[in-house]
Amino acid sequence: MALNTSSPHIIWFKNPLAILANNAEGGLVIEGQKIIELVPQGQQPTHAYSEVMECSDLVILPGLINGHHHFYQTLTRALPQALNKPLFGWLQSLYPVWAGLEPDMLYQATRLALAELLLSGCTSAADHHYLFPEALTEAMDIQAEAAASMGVRMTMTRGSMSLGTDDGGLPPQNTVQHEDIILADSERVIKRYHNAAEGSMLQVALAPCSPFSVTPELMRHSAQLALQHKVMLHTHLAETIDEENFCVQRFGLRTVDYLDSVGWLGPQTWLAHGIHFNTDEIQRLGAAGTGICHCPTSNMMLASGIAPVQELEAAGCPVGIGVDGSASNDGSNMIQEVRQALYLQRLKYGAQVSHFDAYRWATEGSAKMLGRSDIGSLVVGKQADIAFFKLDEMRFSGSHDPLAALLLCGAHKAEHVMVAGRWRVKKGLIEGLDVSPLLQQHGAAAKALATKISR
Ligand SMILES: [Zn+2]
Repeated sequence: MALNTSSPHIIWFKNPLAILANNAEGGLVIEGQKIIELVPQGQQPTHAYSEVMECSDLVILPGLINGHHHFYQTLTRALPQALNKPLFGWLQSLYPVWAGLEPDMLYQATRLALAELLLSGCTSAADHHYLFPEALTEAMDIQAEAAASMGVRMTMTRGSMSLGTDDGGLPPQNTVQHEDIILADSERVIKRYHNAAEGSMLQVALAPCSPFSVTPELMRHSAQLALQHKVMLHTHLAETIDEENFCVQRFGLRTVDYLDSVGWLGPQTWLAHGIHFNTDEIQRLGAAGTGICHCPTSNMMLASGIAPVQELEAAGCPVGIGVDGSASNDGSNMIQEVRQALYLQRLKYGAQVSHFDAYRWATEGSAKMLGRSDIGSLVVGKQADIAFFKLDEMRFSGSHDPLAALLLCGAHKAEHVMVAGRWRVKKGLIEGLDVSPLLQQHGAAAKALATKISR
């Protein structure tokens, strides 16, 4: 069909080198923020298009979806006192530093993490923020502003910690909040920011941090509030054996029984990690439709274990991928995380785990896990969240299957990224963002936070 220069703006991404979509070798067509057509091999779009982008040197993926992160942790990467420790020791080294977090530090950290994610092909990210020291009670407002400025789709989770060391929890008292304050702010944040509509750029979920940092009462009340406002629930679960032992000793329950006892075992919940489950627990999680966010690098870094992803998925759990906090990764690179997931799961299940499995977790799986049906695949009617990769670096030279090469040869940056039909990355650069001042401000914030503890 001939080029039509009149509105509406319709773009044909023509003849990609490869594309992760069915029957779309001729590319795809978008109008505004939605995908309107997949073009079979050798064919032309049936829609009149106003722009053509030649994609013969580009691999097209659905925008990658990051299901679990802690943006603020970009400020404490590779911190000497936290090196070479398992989860509990690592957390105990970092909590006192994190207690000094200030508003501008969180703003810089959120922008930097989102920039890193965008450049790695990520179009949608969930962040689990659970630190609300006195100077930072408006953490969610800061994150909402930063996310809007970066144009990334976000699920902002209002995290919380209420069980400090005085009451037998792990975090120091000065990092926990009173439960009334947590619940009131949770409701305020939902009312102010949660947008459930199709194509939403910002959603809110409630996220008490972990069994060892919140009380069962807060878990129950958060579940009630989430139900009342139809938002999702998120927490860390079954990350380490130390956590399992804590649950057995304190509650007399294993992790999934605990989750069930506080009203969380259902499709409204997604869990970070989900490593230490027995066969019966996997079946219960699957039957409930509870989501699991696999965080391979963090699990390797903290030597936590390997999540039984294949069994969880077969049981019925939506399985997604998350980079987890940038102090247990220590990066925020989503395409590299997909590679890590592929290899870690191969170590567990064998070489038949394919790059298509890993892509599925990071796209459709993450979307389903976050309760979204409008993103996660290149299908007509879905949002135009698209990542384009170029195989022009030395690492790809000599590669043959482009979709496999992206992961096997270790892609680390996207060439172009589009979110809701809007260019956010062009030629490897974020639209409208000067990276130098961001790096300078973020670096200064990290230094200030790390030295605060010694002052
Ligand atoms: Zn985490």
